[in-house]
Amino acid sequence: MKITKIFTFDSSHMLDGHDGKCKNLHGHTYKLEVTVSDGLISGGAKDGMVMDFSDLKTIVKQEIIEPFDHAFIYHGGNERESKIAALLESWQMKTMRLDIRTTAENMVVYMYSRLKAAGLPVSGIKLWETPTSCAEFETSL
Ligand SMILES: [Zn+2]
Repeated sequence: MKITKIFTFDSSHMLDGHDGKCKNLHGHTYKLEVTVSDGLISGGAKDGMVMDFSDLKTIVKQEIIEPFDHAFIYHGGNERESKIAALLESWQMKTMRLDIRTTAENMVVYMYSRLKAAGLPVSGIKLWETPTSCAEFETSL
């Protein structure tokens, strides 16, 4: 059985070295779909559930939404992105460092690993960068 919950967050980023307009600092309202797969709980307060949606929300908010929302997401291994981040941080503005280029594909893998490490039985993640573009990561069960 699978359940999915959808979240949104706003972030800015850039892809330094990109050969198109994504090299510029810009923002997205990201949409994140988190899918959890497990058997149904039998008995008790959570009877008939894979997981309580409110527990799912708590973990995703803590691990993803809080660090990413209204932050400048940047690749810590990139000099120019790191310089911008340092300037923002000197003004007490929010940043989120990743050790990878901030493509939707890389971010979806990072988010998957982070939720997994937090103990969530996540089986798939889909990250929408625009209403028509998304990256998806899934484990085969
Ligand atoms: Zn972008």
